[in-house]
Amino acid sequence: MRDHLFNTEKLKYVKGEKPDVACVLCAIRDGDRKADNLEVARRDGFIVSVNLYPFNPGHVMIFPERHVETLQDLSDGEALALHRLAADTLRFLTEEFRPDGFNVGYNLGKGSGASVPHLHLHIVPRYANEVGFLDVLAGTRLTVVDPAEARDRLRKRFASL
Ligand SMILES: [Zn+2]
Repeated sequence: MRDHLFNTEKLKYVKGEKPDVACVLCAIRDGDRKADNLEVARRDGFIVSVNLYPFNPGHVMIFPERHVETLQDLSDGEALALHRLAADTLRFLTEEFRPDGFNVGYNLGKGSGASVPHLHLHIVPRYANEVGFLDVLAGTRLTVVDPAEARDRLRKRFASL
């Protein structure tokens, strides 16, 4: 049975079965019960959240508390705060999950594959022994760390700052 694997949930999400809220990231910000509580940390106007449908163990997003949809909407101060938070997050992910590398980036606009317009920076740990994206699409891929467990492990790291 594959129903318990998180990647199958991701496929549901891609197909449109999203939480019934106007913006899922604003819902996380507001503690809306329709959005699962995935928040790891909150600092300087930004939130670090575990991705509910992780591509890999430790996949997180960093997003501004205010609903903006482009990088150009961030002030210089916000851009610096985001960079510092991303740097700390990369350090904690390295300590906690020991990945072999990271993909860090934005999906901007409908043509990019973005499913949520609220600006968010993906940080995806990469592992030398991971399987490919086709395995994800085929539903055969196992994500071995529960998102809630990843959240709790990272919360401890941020709490130690
Ligand atoms: Zn939003």
